[in-house]
Order: sequence, then C-alpha cells, then structure tokens
Amino acid sequence: MKSICPFCGVGCGLELLTVNNAIIGVKPDPEHIVSRGHVCGKGMVSYEPLTAWDRLYYPLIKTKNELERTTWDTALKTVYEKITEIQKKYGNDSVAFYGGCQNTLEEVYSFQKLARAFGTNNVDSCARICHDPSASALKQTMGIGAGATSVTEIPEAKVIIVAGESVTDSHPVLTQYFLDAKKNNAKIVQIDPRSTKFSSMVDLQLKLKPRTDIFLFNAIGNYLINNNLIDNNFINERTENFEAYKSNVSKFTLELAEKNTGIKKEDIIKLAEMVASDKVIFSWGLGLTQSTGTKGIKAFLALPLLTGNIGKKGSGVIVYRGQTDVQGSGDLIKPDIFPNGEMNEKNSEELSKIWGFKPPICKGSSIPEAFYNSTKIKALFLMGYNPVKSLPEKSRIEAFLKNLDLLVVQDIFMTETAKYANIVLPSAAWAEKEGSVSSMDRLVKWRFKAVNPPGEAKPDYEIISDISKLMGYSFKNNPEEIFEELKMTVPLYKNLNINDTKDYSKDSRYPNGEELLYEERFNFPDGKARFIPVDSPEYNSKSLILLTGRLVTRYNTDEVINRVPGMQEYEPRLWINPDDAARLKINDNDSVNLKSRSGEMKIKARITDDVIPGTVFAYMHNADINYIVTADLDDETGTPKYKYTEVNIEPA
Ligand code: SF4
Repeated sequence: MKSICPFCGVGCGLELLTVNNAIIGVKPDPEHIVSRGHVCGKGMVSYEPLTAWDRLYYPLIKTKNELERTTWDTALKTVYEKITEIQKKYGNDSVAFYGGCQNTLEEVYSFQKLARAFGTNNVDSCARICHDPSASALKQTMGIGAGATSVTEIPEAKVIIVAGESVTDSHPVLTQYFLDAKKNNAKIVQIDPRSTKFSSMVDLQLKLKPRTDIFLFNAIGNYLINNNLIDNNFINERTENFEAYKSNVSKFTLELAEKNTGIKKEDIIKLAEMVASDKVIFSWGLGLTQSTGTKGIKAFLALPLLTGNIGKKGSGVIVYRGQTDVQGSGDLIKPDIFPNGEMNEKNSEELSKIWGFKPPICKGSSIPEAFYNSTKIKALFLMGYNPVKSLPEKSRIEAFLKNLDLLVVQDIFMTETAKYANIVLPSAAWAEKEGSVSSMDRLVKWRFKAVNPPGEAKPDYEIISDISKLMGYSFKNNPEEIFEELKMTVPLYKNLNINDTKDYSKDSRYPNGEELLYEERFNFPDGKARFIPVDSPEYNSKSLILLTGRLVTRYNTDEVINRVPGMQEYEPRLWINPDDAARLKINDNDSVNLKSRSGEMKIKARITDDVIPGTVFAYMHNADINYIVTADLDDETGTPKYKYTEVNIEPA
C-alpha cells in the first residue's frame, strides 16, 4: 500500500508491505517525484511503533487520580460537557485547541473548525514552534508562507547556501540531491556554528557565532550593492523598498560583520561573490528560525531579491521543514488568521455559509502565549501534540498543565503529556487511516490506509466529527469529502486535484501545481516582492551558549522512535570545545552540571572542536534538555529560540 513517511518534511514515498492486517516491511517507492526510490533509516522502521506494546487501545478518563478505561460515549460526552461548563464559567476563550504536525490536512482543518464551533480562535499547531518565522518572513517578503522551489532543483543550482541545517542528519534523503549537485560542479556553503557530517561535502564552511546571522546577511547585501553585483533590472521591475534596505545595510560593514560573527572578512567576501552568481539556492533550517528568527530570515531573503535569484530554474528558496505535515498545519491552523484569509467580518461570513456557524472575529492565543503567559486558559484539547517533551522550560509547562481544569489528549501513545490528562482519546496512527499531507516543498500527497487501528482507536477526523454531533453540527467524517471542503475554503489549496495527490508520480503542489513560485509575479496585489530592512543588537554574552539539534537516527521528542525495538533512549552527551573544556577543567566523559536560568541537569561531556569556543551542543531528543532550554521568544511569531540558551557548566 502506498504511503508517505510519517517523519520529516521531505515526505518520502513508501510502499508498505502488508499481510493479514499487519505491516511486515517497507520498500522505497521509486515513483515518488521527490524521494525517487530513496528512504532513510527512520522511514524503513516507521511501521514498527504502530504495534508497540503501549499503544492506546481505549478511551481513558481520570477518576481519583488514575486514568481508567471508559466508553467512547462517556469520554466524548464528558469532553463536550466539561468544555461547555468551563466556557460558561470563564468565557469562550478559556479553552484552547492545539495540534501537532503529524496530523493530516483534513484533520488539522476539522480541528480548527471544531475550536471555532466552540466559539474560540485559540487554535495553533507546533508549526509555531519551528518554522513560523520562515512562513512569516516569506509571506511578508514574497507573499506566500512557503518555500519557493522544490528540493529537486538542488542539482540544477551553481551555488547552494545552507544556513542552520545539517541535511545529512535532519533530512537524510536530500543528501542525494547535494551529491548530484556536486557532480554538476555546484558549490555548497554551510553557515552554522557547528560541524556535522554535512560539513564534509561543503566547499565553504562559515562557523559563525550564534545569533549573528543578521550581521552576516546585511554585510553581504551592503557589499553586493557597493560593488554593483546586484540585478538592477530585477530590483526596479519586481521589488519595492530597495532604497530603505540600501540605507539600512550601509552601516553593516565587513569589519562590523567580522567582529560580531567571528567569520573572517575574506570569507564573507567569498560568500558575497558566490551569492552574486547565476542560479543560487538559499536554504535554511531551524538553526536560523530558532535563533535570529523572523528578522534573520528577512535579512537572508533580501539576497535572492538583490541578485534576481528567484522564480528561475536552479534558483530560489528552500525551507527544511521537520514534520510530515508541518507546512500544511502552518497554512491551516492559526489563531490570528482564518483558513480563508484575514480575520474579518467578510471572511467570517463566508465561512458561516460553508460551516453553518460564524467563527468569532478576535485574535486567539498562540501556543507560547497560552503556555507561558496565560492565566485565562482553563481547558486544553491537544491532538497529537506533546508539549511536555517539546517546549522549553519544561518545569513551567508541567506546572501549567497541572493547573488546568481540563486536559484532553488525543494521541496514539501514553505520552509524557497524556499522563497529565483528565481524558485520553486513542487515535489511529498514520498508516491506519487515509488523508493528505503537505511536504516542505508544497507537494500534497495522499496516504492510503494499510491496516486497521488497534482496539477502539479511531481516526482523528472521526473523533472530531463525533464531538461536532454532540454540539448539534455534523462535520464530515470522510477524508475525501473533508479534502473537497478544505479546497472550497482555503484559497491557496483550491487548485489541488485529489486524483493527482493519489498518484505519487505526478506533481501536485499548491497553489498551481508548480515547483517554481514567482516566475512572473510575487503574491501581492502589485506583484512586487518587498525588501524589509532589519537590525540586530550586538551579543556579548559572558556565558556559554547552548545549541540543540538533531541526530540522524532519532526524531523530535523521540516518543515514536523510542518505541522501535532496539532504539531505546541513548546516553546523551554535551559537546564542549577543547578550549572551554581546558579552562573549566573538564575531561572527555566527565559528568558535568549544565545549568541555565530555567533548570539544571547532569550530563556527560564530549570534548570536540565540532563546536566553536563559547558554545556547547546537545541533541534535542533527550528528554531532559528542555528543562535547560529557556523560553526566549521570537518578537514576531513567539517561536522559542532553542538555538540560544545562556548556560554555565561545571564538573559534577
Ligand atoms: Fe522519512 Fe524524512 Fe527519512 Fe524521508 S528523509 S524517509 S521523510 S525521515
């Protein structure tokens, strides 16, 4: 049975081998237009957790501090009655609905609709926690909050710039495209404070100090302008606000950039000359979104606009997104936007014609606003989302959940978050239901059902539809019908064709089935892209800076991969540069106390010059690292800055 890998945003095509309602293996699908017969190790074992011993089989309800088995009728009636009771007492916005990014487009769409039926815009997804700065910066600059070309264009480029991303670890199947690019004599540039396996294939490695990207990108912009290495025709005909940008970057000299980033002036010039080539791809991962965030990405996006490297074969921007439907979740479920656009009377009225009720017109709370700053949220409904393990300042998250009047968790396992729930609803996993997902390059593909869910577990869309019936509505309970409703509602998705999403050999990208965006116009009424000037303070922290990142064999919170036999949690290490280790008298394998303003943990040291002096690194999959990572939030999107936590370490 054809399916899409349930892990990262590459969205590789799989062929699931089934016998008697059991998946017994996986083959890469050679027809899939992006993965082309490749999958990584995670894709090959993706089916194993479905039969883990602790799958949730039945609805559970908490009585006397214990979760006990109950019926679907009781569980759903209790969810509906409790939410209504809390809303009567504290108002509609005392309830929030947050989802993970493994859910299908149809489930995400139905979930936000359910929240709005309850009269609140308190909806969000964990897309907020990773690439919301990318979506926001792209939308403000070019008009659509998504990457503008496909990963399959990588071999066509002459230069590929990769900022804050280790492709070989985070999106392994894309390595093939970089190898093809190398065969075509492309130059690869890595901008990252840390060396990884990916570093061994790059032509220029810039190990900049954390949070200093804006100095680098603005200085490159300034250099390109001063040396007339810009595309004046493109700037005049296809962009707005160049003069304001030019004036702002004029103060970002090479010397200022060298002082702040720690990168030699000569290397900055080398990169600037590469940016000025024809056919350049600008790409980035969480190292950028979770450090300088929206501002840093706006500074980066000015470079393709200056050089006209957008809307052409072998050029453009790529965002390395981390989850199978994170692009779709970010498009569909937001507290300040309706699925059909701006939150205003006209759009609310339009939705009421499709939905049969009118959604409220007032901005709701995002995930960080609720978890870190809200006293008004009394009830939470989480769908496939595990904030206890994934959000920074874990102690604050645990305290917030303990104080709720109601926590409903709909998931496939008893996650760390589900343990705090009053009601747990067992859902079907990815291969046990149908529906579509949108990959990092806007490719929408349909997953087919391979096996039945275990016990009484149900697809998320069915659970949502059942709750809607208790409210007096009747949400659709069939993914194909939900897909058609979604297309009617969401302008960007209106041209999708369900048959194309089911054929893995066909391009089915939104908005128009095209790889390349912006060949002729940007997505604004005047068709022009916007230069957005940004500034940065200087960072002179005396503390070490903790960075976190991915390991090729693990995945996000590890709740799923930990359930692959033989892949139980490993002993974590803290990477420390030899200079810092000598100064702090720490040897390889020593236990150290790692401390930030939010928490403390013991961890063993790994001394390595893969990290630059002044920084330390740990894998994000470790259960306790989020006790240490602090919740400093991006000004515009609220995305936590996981790649910048001030820490101290000492021998334990
Ligand atoms: Fe799955 Fe990503 Fe690996 Fe592809 S690269 S098999 S989508 S984890």
